[in-house]
Amino acid sequence: MVPPLVSWLFGASPRSLAPALYGLSRRKHRCVRDALRNGTWVQELRARVSPPLLESFVALRVLLELAQLSPGMRDKFTWRFSSDGVYSASSAYRLQFAGAVESPFVQLIWKPWATPRCRLFAWLLAQNRLMTADRLLARQWPNDYFCPLCMRNLETTAHLFVECPLSRRIWEKVATLAAAPTLNPATWDVHHMVVDWLGCLTRGRPNAEASRVRSWAMLVLWHIWLERNARTFRASTSTLESLIAKIADEAVAWDRMGGAKISSPRE
Ligand SMILES: [Zn+2]
Repeated sequence: MVPPLVSWLFGASPRSLAPALYGLSRRKHRCVRDALRNGTWVQELRARVSPPLLESFVALRVLLELAQLSPGMRDKFTWRFSSDGVYSASSAYRLQFAGAVESPFVQLIWKPWATPRCRLFAWLLAQNRLMTADRLLARQWPNDYFCPLCMRNLETTAHLFVECPLSRRIWEKVATLAAAPTLNPATWDVHHMVVDWLGCLTRGRPNAEASRVRSWAMLVLWHIWLERNARTFRASTSTLESLIAKIADEAVAWDRMGGAKISSPRE
């Protein structure tokens, strides 16, 4: 946690009060007592103070004359990003992530093993960036409107991958194939966001098993998308059985690639 900055000059610092003057200073790391002694800080300005800087120069000088230094106390530089005021590489490393928001994609997509194109695809999918019919429609671009897997509903990401009757049959078969019960639609809650649904597929699972299930999820999502594209662009349709066979073959290939064993469950 970053402690609040408490600066010595009435809660500010010369640098924040007069940045242009600070830029002219030849000694930027001199301690306060030395800088104030006999107006040393003025003598060490690199150039004469020009009229535009005169106002801030006078204001700073007035403040410095009013500042009271604690007798007998030596001033020192402190690193405000650690609790003890001492610089450490670990505190500097943590500082890089100050204010960062943890992304769910790290656990859901980037850590589990998958081929790079599957990961990239899943990342786009999770952010609703695939060009499904609803998004094409919103742009008034040409589209087929209906989901090509069932021809019943408007093709949205949620419908195509989660709600479509054919997709659900694929998930049901894969749940058995992968020995991963949470991939079975019968266990799913209703989610409005695909990324939430993706997160719930592995809720409560041990880490290694969760990672394996996420790999399977990316594999299945990818094959649903391939089948959707085959039907949309090539008028080519695969049966449920051949789709499951393709998924099973690729799962074996993923195992052989050595990135992760996704075939066997890790309870
Ligand atoms: Zn459908």
